[in-house]
Amino acid sequence: MPYSYDPENIFARILRGEIPAKTVLETGHSLAFHDIRAQAPTHVLVIPKGPYVNWDHFAAAASDAEIVDFTRAVARVCAELGLEPGAGGQGYRLLANSGPHSHQEVPHLHVHILAGRPLGPMLVRPE
Ligand code: AMP
Repeated sequence: MPYSYDPENIFARILRGEIPAKTVLETGHSLAFHDIRAQAPTHVLVIPKGPYVNWDHFAAAASDAEIVDFTRAVARVCAELGLEPGAGGQGYRLLANSGPHSHQEVPHLHVHILAGRPLGPMLVRPE
């Protein structure tokens, strides 16, 4: 399955410093920043710095170092924001949209971290 990465997508532009973002955490291979249209009291996006379209692209093409860094970056954000249920936090939801049926808007892999209130059921069922 070939993946076509658009280097003009908004997150690529954030990574190049062309547009601002409210950074939460930066590591060697990953960046976390606040979502511009927060859907919960805490809404942080974590992205790999490499040019990956979505989760399956990342899993297939990224190096082990990038995958480890990204996985730990997500956990570090949760820890630094006090969200970890195992450490007294109230928990969080991770969400990664991939492709058209998921309603992915930005074609650069990102994990949403949502927290800060009871988030309700995972999906709203169609009527
Ligand atoms: P998705 O629908 O999973 O692709 O989510 C894309 C997310 O990116 C949405 O929640 C947007 O609010 C968010 N977003 C778009 N542009 C920006 C930006 N410049 N800074 C921060 N978040 C953004």
